[in-house]
Amino acid sequence: MKNDNQQLEEIITIESGSLSLREISHITSTPERLQFYEKKYPDILYSTLLMSLTHESYTEAQAKRLWSGIRQHMDKLNNILQRDVGLSVATLDYLTNCSEHLSAPKIIEQDKSDFVSRAATIDELTGLYIRDVFDVMIKTSIGNAIHNNTPLCLLMIDIDDFKQVNDNYGHMTGDKVLAELGACLKQSIRESDMAIRYGGEELSVIMPETKEKNASKVGERIRKQVEQLEFDGFSVTVSIGLGSLNKVCRTPETLISAADEALYEAKHNGKNQLIISQCAIREN
Ligand code: GH3
Ligand code: MG
Ligand code: MG
Repeated sequence: MKNDNQQLEEIITIESGSLSLREISHITSTPERLQFYEKKYPDILYSTLLMSLTHESYTEAQAKRLWSGIRQHMDKLNNILQRDVGLSVATLDYLTNCSEHLSAPKIIEQDKSDFVSRAATIDELTGLYIRDVFDVMIKTSIGNAIHNNTPLCLLMIDIDDFKQVNDNYGHMTGDKVLAELGACLKQSIRESDMAIRYGGEELSVIMPETKEKNASKVGERIRKQVEQLEFDGFSVTVSIGLGSLNKVCRTPETLISAADEALYEAKHNGKNQLIISQCAIREN
């Protein structure tokens, strides 16, 4: 008797130009199977996979490169979120956030419910990673930093008097401010840093392999850039707390509270400033 895979293999006709997610998952499930299909359809395999996933047409060479990027990105996301994000989320996230190819790729129709129900990784308003990603990444980053003996910094950023912006100009304008700040943050950081929407109007940046002095420079740059953004007749400022991994702050809890306490101090001192946590000094 034929097993499921053999039956599927006979049914899959790549020439038809459109594959279901089940077919795509089957074709790409193991390197061996992918190789088998590569040999069978040397000129159209990857362009068909990408066409089926995005409804966009690519040359075979382009599609092969993109596929490799998507695979790597999916592994990274699965690792970050500690669950299977699914091919459609990984594809969408890769094409919108990591590659220059598409501005707004469509995901295949049947996958939309899957996309909505499984957590996406990006906050829609700010374009930054969602809190779930922070919770996993802060643990992973601390683990890596301790293991490799490299520095790690964390910025906690809170908009000053944001309630007044909402009260004076309306919630929609407040949303616009958040969106611009998200874009500003993304522009100001390196690829290895992660910018996250930590909570309502609180943003955060995890900065691996970054010394306190450099993280402080980046934070200051962010603060100055925000100050210069012009909205309809007003501007906003942010306060920033900087915590860094050291002998005392070696867990997510202690590092977060070090950055949080520094942020509190920045607010207390008059806002629109960056304060470096004194956590290590105080405890020594
Ligand atoms: P502080 O300088 O002490 O931080 O003052 P604040 O007014 O920023 O702080 P507070 O915590 O009192 O208010 C935060 C405000 O942020 C209240 C809340 O409505 C607003 N906020 C949170 N999330 C969103 C959002 O998604 N959109 C908009 N427009 N406002 C938001
Ligand atoms: Mg605030
Ligand atoms: Mg706040």
